[in-house]
Amino acid sequence: MKMMKHVKKQNKSTKETLKSSLTFKWVSLVAATITVSFVIFSIAIYSLVKQQIVSQERNLTESVATTFQRRLVEIPTSLQISNVVPQLSPNTNRILEGQTPITSNDGGNVFNDDVLATLSNRDTSITIYNPSGDVVFSNGNVPDNGMPHFSKTENHVLKVETTKGKIHMKIYQKIFSDKTRRLTGYLIVDNSMDQQNHVLKSIRNWMIGLSIIAIIVFVGLSYLIVNSVVQPIKKMSQISHDINEDPTNKRRVPDLHRNDELGELAISFNEMLDRMQAYMQQQKQFVGDVSHELRTPVAVIEGHLNLLERWGKDDPQVLEESIQASLQESKRMKHLIQEMLDLTRAEQVDLQYPDKTADVNEVLNRTVNDMRMIHQDFTITYDDSDLAPDTIIKIYRNHLEQILIILIDNAIKYSTDRKEILVDAATEKDKVKISVQDFGEGIAPDEQDKIFNRFYRVDKARTREKGGNGLGLAIAQKLVESYHGKISVSSTLGSGSKFMIEFPLLKSKSENK
Ligand code: ADP
Repeated sequence: MKMMKHVKKQNKSTKETLKSSLTFKWVSLVAATITVSFVIFSIAIYSLVKQQIVSQERNLTESVATTFQRRLVEIPTSLQISNVVPQLSPNTNRILEGQTPITSNDGGNVFNDDVLATLSNRDTSITIYNPSGDVVFSNGNVPDNGMPHFSKTENHVLKVETTKGKIHMKIYQKIFSDKTRRLTGYLIVDNSMDQQNHVLKSIRNWMIGLSIIAIIVFVGLSYLIVNSVVQPIKKMSQISHDINEDPTNKRRVPDLHRNDELGELAISFNEMLDRMQAYMQQQKQFVGDVSHELRTPVAVIEGHLNLLERWGKDDPQVLEESIQASLQESKRMKHLIQEMLDLTRAEQVDLQYPDKTADVNEVLNRTVNDMRMIHQDFTITYDDSDLAPDTIIKIYRNHLEQILIILIDNAIKYSTDRKEILVDAATEKDKVKISVQDFGEGIAPDEQDKIFNRFYRVDKARTREKGGNGLGLAIAQKLVESYHGKISVSSTLGSGSKFMIEFPLLKSKSENK
């Protein structure tokens, strides 16, 4: 019972999804639009044709009625079969009386053969009544409803009627004798319009047929078009659903081979997934690296505290050593945490300091002087001969200082015997280039790419001794790139390294001149 309910529910939800699906909505809309347009168009065309036919037939029927009336008014007495037939067919009468037949030379349109032609027309039936309502002549079926009801003032009535989808028209005409002005009878011209009804029926059938074909063709076409749009969207939706379930899923939208907005959407959708997964991977890696880096100082401090707990309390030497070591480790940890914070902040500087600028010469002079003060055993030379005066770049000055400190600090850390550092700044076209060079241990070519990665150190044990966490260059790179600059290194193992950075020039005095 429960199962049945579940299946029913599922069926219902499938039906609902089908109804709310884009394809269904779109195709229904197209079908409805085409149907309505075709119905309106068909009705308009049909009405126009029908109107035209009715108007033509009305003229024809009227002219038949007039022709008959003209002949019948010549009969002075009440209409009877004996005076009506000779009047309608004077030829017959003349031949019976032994006279020559009427020729076209005799003139007088009343006596032409139109009347006879009309009598033989299968669609038009003519019935003539005497004043008392008895049929005196008919060329076809006598109308069922017989004599018309004229209102007092009427002599002539025209009725257009539609029965069972067929149009027909009738003219009721009172006949007055030309001579006596007395009512001599009645004339009914009934045009069944069979031929025209047949034509109209054909038009109707054609239009219905064409409408059905058009609806099928357009619905089919719109289904194909809509499907070609909806399929990629469905794919993207399926892929995002899969990635929602498993964020490491490597599925991507396949190449759609189309140059339209959907093709672009698919490409940027894939790029977005790539970036998102790379970012997630980076975060994971970062958390792993951080916990790994923090584990060592924590373990060292813990070791010393254990040592103190067991023996150190009473041994002043152990106590002193352990306190010093723990202090050093906690300082290192503080430094590491500060560097990690700097790295995180370096990724968002563009948003935080969008309008800050710095005077390159001023910042470099100050930083180099500060570094000279701290490291008096080093000769730090600053060459600004190629730097245009008042060179301004788009960067928050503390960040430029931070980058320089990282580079000069490294140059000092990794210098060997030759304690000399060259800092150079130059303006080149629309760029400002700054370099920091040392003559120390240098970096092997295969390491040069990796040194900008977080926590990467060429010689872990040695750099740890020097207090390095492997974050300095990563921070410098993030900062430089956040301000649309570039950072690179050229180095020879054993001879020293040169770190180069460049920024887009905002303005300088030489430029203003
Ligand atoms: P650290 O804080 O360990 O110096 P960095 O990210 O600043 O971290 O540098 C990463 C690694 O690159 C260092 O561990 C070092 O091996 C190498 N390195 C950086 N600068 C220099 C340099 N001027 N000369 C030689 N090696 C360097």
